[in-house]
Amino acid sequence: MLLDSLQHKGLRQKLLKALYGKGVNDERVLAAMGSVPRHFFLASGLDKIAYTDGAIPIGAGQTISRPYTVGWQTQLLNVVRDEKILEIGTGSGYQTAVLCELGASVYSIERQRLLHSKAKSLLAQMGYHPNLVYGDGFEGLPQHAPFAKILVTCGADHVPQALLCQLAVGGRMVIPVGSGNALYMCVFDKISETEIKQTKLSECSFVPMLQGVS
Ligand code: SAH
Repeated sequence: MLLDSLQHKGLRQKLLKALYGKGVNDERVLAAMGSVPRHFFLASGLDKIAYTDGAIPIGAGQTISRPYTVGWQTQLLNVVRDEKILEIGTGSGYQTAVLCELGASVYSIERQRLLHSKAKSLLAQMGYHPNLVYGDGFEGLPQHAPFAKILVTCGADHVPQALLCQLAVGGRMVIPVGSGNALYMCVFDKISETEIKQTKLSECSFVPMLQGVS
């Protein structure tokens, strides 16, 4: 049963305050994160730590991103209501739910079948209706392109060209890029069909973006 108790709500508000102090200060992003009970996305015994600012195991060797990272990436994405967004790495589905709360039309790809199915049933139960796809995020979803925004939630050792191609002109992709222990948050703004502006931000940590499906 999905129960969002007063205690959970209180812990969530505390976490949001802490995120604000760390630089996640976009009110819409904070409101969206305030509306999504993060503990629903974790195994039941883990609800005590759901509102600490850490990455937590979700099975299949993967983790739900740290709340700070979710806030930071979502803020960088600057989501506008109704725009089409592609997420790579559905994982628990938490970030997907936050994007849905912001009113986006969300597509999300996951390469681990178990995580894909779990996220699919949980998000439906919570009343969210993103388009969840089991597949390889390196390929994107050409049949649904172009996307106004693309959010990669795993660390890539190179920038997937297919994703840049599927980004709309005027669109933005937020992606951690680098080698295993030296990943940097990068922002790609597609100025025109031929011009892309790249901004490299601070260091970050993510599970790796892997080829193929599992
Ligand atoms: N957004 C997720 C983060 C999960 S961790 C959340 O909020 O829980 C990143 C996820 O990316 C993992 O589930 C991993 O399996 C997935 N992943 C890694 N490489 C991928 C690829 N090539 N295509 C799709 N998903 C990928």
